[in-house]
Amino acid sequence: MIIPCARSVNKNYDVVLSVVVPVFNEYTTLPVLLERVLPILDALPIDTQLVFVDDGSHDESASYLANMLETKGGLKLVKLSRNFGKEAALTAGLEYATGDAVIVIDADLQDPPELIPQMVEVWQSGTDVVLMQRRSRQGESIFKRLSAHLFYRLLNHTSRTNIPVDTGDFRLMSRRAVDALMSLNERNRYMKGIFAWVGMPTIVLQYDREPRVAGKTKLSYSKLVGLALEGLTSFSISPLRWATGLGLVTATFGVLFGIWIVIKALVVGDATAGYPSIVALITFFSGVQLLSIGIVGEYVGKTYVETKQRPIYIKEDVLESAPKKHTE
Ligand code: UDP
Ligand code: MG
Repeated sequence: MIIPCARSVNKNYDVVLSVVVPVFNEYTTLPVLLERVLPILDALPIDTQLVFVDDGSHDESASYLANMLETKGGLKLVKLSRNFGKEAALTAGLEYATGDAVIVIDADLQDPPELIPQMVEVWQSGTDVVLMQRRSRQGESIFKRLSAHLFYRLLNHTSRTNIPVDTGDFRLMSRRAVDALMSLNERNRYMKGIFAWVGMPTIVLQYDREPRVAGKTKLSYSKLVGLALEGLTSFSISPLRWATGLGLVTATFGVLFGIWIVIKALVVGDATAGYPSIVALITFFSGVQLLSIGIVGEYVGKTYVETKQRPIYIKEDVLESAPKKHTE
């Protein structure tokens, strides 16, 4: 009998399902998370593992999790040496997840863990990626929703990799999808883009994104803007083309304006006015130049970071509790 690869239980991997949770200062949400996730995993008829990545939390998150490891089976804690950001934390989690399938979920319960059984079911029916698409976003400001909406559309417009609209990191991936993903070792990690780049048979499920159970978002607007820029420039070089296009348009405009001035001087004579228009033109063209240099700089900077070949994260410690085997 031939079993589809996405479903096969790979003998090298000891559990069927790993759930990866990046954690940064989530002390207030962790107890609620465990309370909700553990019974769901226990109820599944497969062996499971919960992998936490402590992304350099300043609160008690790491020690709380280390304590939980003493009492509960099937937990793993990867401690990073400092805060590397969610994308790096996810990479670490995926590296240490040993399941045949891996689910990535936020610690703040914005992604409802109650959907895990359904995701597993869909995966077992023979797909590689179960992608969770937000139907609604509760507890997020109109500004955040609008900017997210516009950003996803701009992103898809610019890049050749089709990054699904309104999806986050919440998803299930088969072992071969995870392995494929881990073969991409770029430093600039825009996870949503990387996930999409890998491809693989995908089924999209819709869900309602809930508000955070406790604590505040760890991604400030400045971090989000950084991430957005990262997304735009990591998966396409079209911003460079925009710069070229902008240069062409403004240069044409400059030439036409020049011709018009010469003709005007010849026909009606030169009245030597024009100070305001000169200042306006200088500011406009300097703006265009700076913008274009900025865009080029963005790519030069990326190349610089990539050439250093630094590791994506540094782990301080990996702790693991006894495996929890599912009993029929
Ligand atoms: N997170 C992380 N490192 C960071 C920032 C966030 O591991 O530097 C984790 C955080 O603990 C949470 C997830 O990433 O589990 C999503 O973060 P958050 O809820 O703050 O982002 P939002 O949902 O507002 O986009
Ligand atoms: Mg959140």
